[in-house]
Amino acid sequence: VAKIYTDQDANLDKIKNKKIAVLGYGSQGRAWALNLRDSGLNVTVGLEREGNSWKQAEKDGFKPVHTEEAVKNADIVIFLVPDMVQRYVYLEKVKPYLKEGMDLVFAHGFNIHYRLIEPPKNVDVYMVAPKGPGPTVRDFYTKGGGVPSLIAVHQDYSGEAKEKALAIAKGIGSTRAGVIETTFKEETETDLFGEQTTLVGGVMELMRSAFKTLVDLGYQPEVAYFETINEMKMIVDIIYDKGFSGMLKAVSDTAKYGGLTSGKYEINEDVRKRMLEIAEKIRSGKFAEEWIEEYGRGSPTIKEGMEEVENSLEEQTGRRLKELIERGKPKS
Ligand code: NDP
Ligand code: MG
Ligand code: MG
Repeated sequence: VAKIYTDQDANLDKIKNKKIAVLGYGSQGRAWALNLRDSGLNVTVGLEREGNSWKQAEKDGFKPVHTEEAVKNADIVIFLVPDMVQRYVYLEKVKPYLKEGMDLVFAHGFNIHYRLIEPPKNVDVYMVAPKGPGPTVRDFYTKGGGVPSLIAVHQDYSGEAKEKALAIAKGIGSTRAGVIETTFKEETETDLFGEQTTLVGGVMELMRSAFKTLVDLGYQPEVAYFETINEMKMIVDIIYDKGFSGMLKAVSDTAKYGGLTSGKYEINEDVRKRMLEIAEKIRSGKFAEEWIEEYGRGSPTIKEGMEEVENSLEEQTGRRLKELIERGKPKS
């Protein structure tokens, strides 16, 4: 079983006197910069352009600077720009200013694992990967909690890379929950697999397929929406708190019997064969290759997919029911 690191296992002193450059101020960047600052650390936000992030960082009390300026002065450089942008930022704005003993920190292993970024031997390269969206990393921290993270060391020039990874994890609040050590390979491959088969792709298409099946059979879209989409959150909340057995205990015996039998009929060997294919595509590097190519063409598949989702009947139905759903949310 994996060792779980908590607050006592991590020491902020390891990075207390270091200058930390957070590159990017989006989903994770904002959360990290604010949490690290609130943990008493020395944070500079480095950005490529004076756009929305720049304004947001100023609003949050930072004085953002251009990437190369942040890097020149930094001991620790944290990459929180999109995965497809990191390689260019590294080559143009980080590599020229690298100093012996600097730390390069990642929140996901993609660029290191697939060798899009190949740092020199005389720097530390490690990862702190929160297992949750950026806004949640911030929200949990401000409320005294933390989102769990994975840490990994790719290169340990100083001999202290793991201690520093734990310190960063503590700074963003993760050791309040717990931190587990992994490798860049394991984090990258499991993260991609999770988002494709379950968290983003799988769960969305499962809900959409069920919705479409009901609507095609002539049921009202509103009724289908409640059943196959809206109620998902309530069920997942119970799984989050009490596990699958807790969820099964909370539903009716009819739902239990139907769920235990039809669930396995629906998600069968064929589906698992496809999951295995998806895993293979990730492990072989073929997915990375395909995504880099898509990004190079201006991400047409993302644009098309987003448009299709936004205009779908389920999204229209969701927008129509939004007011009702908001009215019902707990008030305190
Ligand atoms: P975002 O997409 O939220 O990053 C946006 C930031 O990057 C903004 O500051 C934006 O600046 C800047 N940016 C966007 N495009 C460019 C560009 N072409 N050139 C320069 N700057 C650009 O990133 P995430 O927070 O989602 O991801 C950051 C890292 O964290 C990734 O490695 C990701 O895999 C990892 N991660 C993300 C999670 C998440 O919940 N999102 C979860 C766990 C890990 P501007 O406003 O000027 O456009
Ligand atoms: Mg993830
Ligand atoms: Mg991911």
